[in-house]
Amino acid sequence: MTNKIALFINGEFVQSRSERFSDVVNPATQEVIAKVPFATDSELEDAIASARAAFKLWRDVPVPDRARYFFRYQTLLKEHQKELAEILSRENGKTFQDAMGDVWRGIEIVEHACSIPSLMMGETVENVARGIDTYSNIQPLGVCLGITPFNFPAMIPLWMFPMAIACGNAFVLKPSEQDPMTPMRLAELFMEAGFPKGLLNVVHGGKEQVEKLLKHKDIKTISFVGSVPVARHVYRTGTDHFKRVQAFGGAKNHMVVMPDAAKAQVLSALAGASVGAAGQRCMAISVAVLVGEAKNWAEDIKAELAKAKPGAWNDDKAAFGPVISRAAKDRVLGMIAKGVDEGARLLLDGRDCKVPGLPDGNFVGATLFDKVTSNMDIYKEEIFGPVLLLMEAETLEEAIRIINDNPYGNGTSIFTNSGYAARTFQNKVEAGQVGINVPIPVPLPFFSFTGWKESFFGDHHAYGKQAVRFYTETKTITARWFAEDSKVQSNMTIKLQ
Ligand code: NAD
Repeated sequence: MTNKIALFINGEFVQSRSERFSDVVNPATQEVIAKVPFATDSELEDAIASARAAFKLWRDVPVPDRARYFFRYQTLLKEHQKELAEILSRENGKTFQDAMGDVWRGIEIVEHACSIPSLMMGETVENVARGIDTYSNIQPLGVCLGITPFNFPAMIPLWMFPMAIACGNAFVLKPSEQDPMTPMRLAELFMEAGFPKGLLNVVHGGKEQVEKLLKHKDIKTISFVGSVPVARHVYRTGTDHFKRVQAFGGAKNHMVVMPDAAKAQVLSALAGASVGAAGQRCMAISVAVLVGEAKNWAEDIKAELAKAKPGAWNDDKAAFGPVISRAAKDRVLGMIAKGVDEGARLLLDGRDCKVPGLPDGNFVGATLFDKVTSNMDIYKEEIFGPVLLLMEAETLEEAIRIINDNPYGNGTSIFTNSGYAARTFQNKVEAGQVGINVPIPVPLPFFSFTGWKESFFGDHHAYGKQAVRFYTETKTITARWFAEDSKVQSNMTIKLQ
């Protein structure tokens, strides 16, 4: 019998009473590996109530003690990294190495959560008036909600709940229904680390469940990662209901290739960053803008991409795995056909892609278009598959203009040997993450992940110091203390300004 995934409520793994389930499918084989429930309204209520109750106790746990729980969690995650990566590969299709990276980037956030005592420090000014001090404390908010996408089932849940809980909050996570087994294993290890029950709850479902959670009176913050239309909707609905929202959306990331760049580095970086993880990364490079003489490099890029072959998760030679679902594959194939219709030149066609032994996998081969222009749908829409587009520009300024005119702003990079070109690019380009001779600049957790424009709706970004701001409220206290024999002084004489 197919395994039915449990809900995680109040420290218990419980079977849902729902009658609605969807299949969790191995994208390389179409095997149904589990069934995931769509939680009922009362189960969502139970999860939120349990988080509320846990919050009341947890907020008073001393900050160093909170950090110690995360030290234990970090150790357990490291011990189970391979096992987590195997679960992840099976339900998501990523190669094992890529899945190890997905888990590792999450572990790094847990490490960051271990430094919560210094992250929670407020500010103090002594003597704002005679004998009066003002200081600020940072306090948690209550129950925080996270809604996560399919493409990083370990890293993105770990972007959210460790920092929220380290700050003193409790958390309800609604992971992607396409690969919920990895987040459930994260929850089991969370319990094993000894955290109090109810601090983390995991509920399953889709649009309907999200809709209920977004409007719930006891939810204080909403962290969302997913496609742009849903991110926009989550931001609007959440803020309409007076929640604090951070909503990360889709992307179209450009790499500018200057003619003075180290060519071998460009080719290798571009292949890994465009078709790696089957192009299903929000920081994938999906457009390369070739500047000046670099326009002649299209054939070399094609040769490099042609070497990147998809395959099974445990095939060491596979550069990437299948896309997540049949529907995703159909969508990517449809976009390739559209690119041909729109007049882009198809240099490498990954549509007829066969992986020996896996005839039913959702594989799409590395695909390359050149002569792409900004009015084409393949340029305007996020494809989220192993497809790289080449565009041309005469100058760096023209390349920057192309990027700045694009509605997305997650990340971008430049390959050049000119410090001046790199500095101009870093200063003028409108994107939240910039790489200089680095293709996928996902910041480490002591910085924040800072998407711009349509790639992010909200104010404070994920992890780093910005996460502490997002998951807390600042209280500013002004205090005066009297000596036992102090005379009453008229309040009129105390000037605070
Ligand atoms: P998705 O938007 O389909 O789903 C994301 C989450 O929202 C899931 O938990 C899903 O159940 C829920 N959901 C789906 N439709 C909904 C609706 N109509 N109303 C309410 N909730 C809904 O995204 P996905 O396909 O799982 O993930 C891929 C997308 O995520 C890509 O667009 C990618 O660029 C983006 N992404 C962005 C970042 C970033 O940092 N900016 C990171 C990772 C992924």
